[in-house]
Amino acid sequence: MSAQLLRGMDVAQKIRGQIKEEMESLKQKTGKVPGLAVVLVGENPASQTYVKHKERTSKKLGFYSEVHRLPAKTTQAELLHLVEELNNSEHIHGILVQLPLLEHIKEEAVIHAISAEKDVDGFHPLNVGKLVIGERCYIPCTAYGVIKMLEHAGIELQGKHAVVVGRSNIVGKPVALLLLERHATVTVCHSRTANLAELCRSADVLVVAVGRPEMIKGSWIKPGAVVIDVGINRVGGKLVGDVDFNAAKEVASWITPVPGGVGPMTITMLMVNTLQSFKYKLFQR
Ligand code: NDP
Repeated sequence: MSAQLLRGMDVAQKIRGQIKEEMESLKQKTGKVPGLAVVLVGENPASQTYVKHKERTSKKLGFYSEVHRLPAKTTQAELLHLVEELNNSEHIHGILVQLPLLEHIKEEAVIHAISAEKDVDGFHPLNVGKLVIGERCYIPCTAYGVIKMLEHAGIELQGKHAVVVGRSNIVGKPVALLLLERHATVTVCHSRTANLAELCRSADVLVVAVGRPEMIKGSWIKPGAVVIDVGINRVGGKLVGDVDFNAAKEVASWITPVPGGVGPMTITMLMVNTLQSFKYKLFQR
């Protein structure tokens, strides 16, 4: 058996087309466009690449885009001051401070300082709390992207056993909450989980966000399972996921490739969240 590929780029392109259409119609009606501000402190090469992609995508879609590249010596107080300015800016509907931050800046302080109404990353405690109780909120972009891909492929979640490997605040936990909301029965695994292979083998839907190259073996996959590999690992100049793709694709019914799987969805959902914030502001609801 060879699995069908669940390609993020196909889904992302469709959603980006919808965003562009909606945005242009709102622009014609109001003369305004959504604004996204991205803040990068220091020169982490991976972060620089992510920020460049975010800037490029938001410009391509016709958003107003501001990128603040700050030197590594920027103090926490200076960063918080910029966040406050962006919170008060009329042109900015979404604020994203690229993580990880340098050691002298407390991530928590920065996440808390971003207005929950402009927190398009969905990391502010108010948005996290709303996600837990199922209220409207900004959903963390990668987790949101995973759910949109499953929806796009028409994969039924109700009553299914979903296993999420990884419990980070940005991926594992929000994915688990979203699957639960869609009536899957969810098991969350982490570094201290006993019998990980056995739990993975019981999954109808397996979502992996660990950051360890090819740790999920083909023999851990239930025949016919849907496998979503969030992991991005660089091995010998090549990108690989957390799942042994070649072995897993022979067993699964659907599988995401790496690269080209979940990756393109993250930025797209950032744009969805920013457009959503713009609409809340325009229509005050
Ligand atoms: P974190 O390091 O924050 O979390 C990793 C999780 O994996 C933790 O919960 C950890 O458990 C768990 N874990 C570590 N080792 C094992 C193990 N041997 N068995 C089971 N669980 C284990 O990572 P992120 O969630 O931020 O990212 C995960 C991966 O996804 C990375 O490769 C990252 O690059 C990628 N990623 C991809 C994105 C995309 O757009 N496609 C976006 C974001 C991330 P514990 O909690 O016990 O420590």
